[in-house]
Amino acid sequence: MSLIVQKYGGTSVGDLERITGVAQRIARYRRQGHKVAVVVSAMSGETNRLTAMGEDISQQRPDPREMDVLTASGEQVTIALLSMALQVESIDAKSMLADQVAIRTDSAHGKARILEIDTDYLRSEMDRGCVPVVAGFQGVDKNGNITTLGRGGSDTSAVALASALQADECQICTDVDGVYTADPRVVSEARRLDHVTFEEMLELASLGSKVLHPRSVEFAGRYRIPLRVMSTFADGPGTLITVENENMEQPIVSGIAHARDEAKITVSGVPDIPGIASKILGPVGRANVEVDMIVQNTAADGLTDFTFTVTRQDYERTIALLAPVVEEISARSVSGDNEIAKVSMVGVGMRSHAGVATRMFDCLASENINIQMISTSEIKISVVVAEKYMELAVRALHSEFGLEED
Ligand code: ASP
Ligand code: MG
Repeated sequence: MSLIVQKYGGTSVGDLERITGVAQRIARYRRQGHKVAVVVSAMSGETNRLTAMGEDISQQRPDPREMDVLTASGEQVTIALLSMALQVESIDAKSMLADQVAIRTDSAHGKARILEIDTDYLRSEMDRGCVPVVAGFQGVDKNGNITTLGRGGSDTSAVALASALQADECQICTDVDGVYTADPRVVSEARRLDHVTFEEMLELASLGSKVLHPRSVEFAGRYRIPLRVMSTFADGPGTLITVENENMEQPIVSGIAHARDEAKITVSGVPDIPGIASKILGPVGRANVEVDMIVQNTAADGLTDFTFTVTRQDYERTIALLAPVVEEISARSVSGDNEIAKVSMVGVGMRSHAGVATRMFDCLASENINIQMISTSEIKISVVVAEKYMELAVRALHSEFGLEED
């Protein structure tokens, strides 16, 4: 018998029939003798619908506190419905909002961080055989205000709950049956991974794989909560995300991630003097634009080019932002390209294998794909390529590194 936290995402609770299916699934775990605590998202599309209404009525300037009250309501609906569906299956269940559990967060509305979870009440309910059905995505600050954790945040709620309860496993039950070597919509030979390490999953999630919210992976890694991604709709072991097993030979490349929503910006003819990077990126950061890759070459004639990437939705804004900067630092011009994509290979085995980058670049060269930017870390290599070559790049690399074979 073990203690499991299960999280069900929006598609898993997308309509009443599915909620009943989820209740039956939870009931099976209960009958096997496991203690189960459940975290749910809002019905799919609901958070978008609520957000749009809030933006509409506030003329696009919603008060963050009220926006949280509004968007958190989506999860209130699903916890109640799922609890009722569980009761139909003769499973004792009780819905709980964040303040009823006591999921305490800071006061950063819309992107709150969990500070502490009180487990006394949860535990006593579970000890008497009840399944707590907890609203994901939300918390309560020290003044009793409802907060939300940011879009996709209920993964993080589940991991935090699993950590507080010292659960044996946190299961993310979703519409895919695990983490794949690449997006199966791009590579038909992509294979489900049995295991992946926290580090690799964190890279994959941050580099464009949408299966898990990056913050939840970070959290699970820090507190060493075994995390399993599995299907709500089909049986199967899913993918277990755990710490690296020293005794196991690690694959060099575990997975390939891609991100389409990228854009690159180049400030050219920049004087190569101290303080330039901060003059360029300072205003960008202050405008809350997240910068990803940064490349600056050494200058031959005292002038250099400075290139970085941002998400595509920040592209126009960032170019506009840099116009006065170009003048201020006497650079030549600012230009960019928003039809690029990032392709990344991730694997802890890269640490102990040389030549992975060369093999990657050779493979792309043989497909005539031009690499525009490169960035590496210990366990990943990312390249920027023209968006139209992205799928080809992912497929070519997948086969070059033999990822379809177990
Ligand atoms: N319902 C929230 C959202 O759509 C939280 C979640 O689904 O994880 O972002
Ligand atoms: Mg979601």
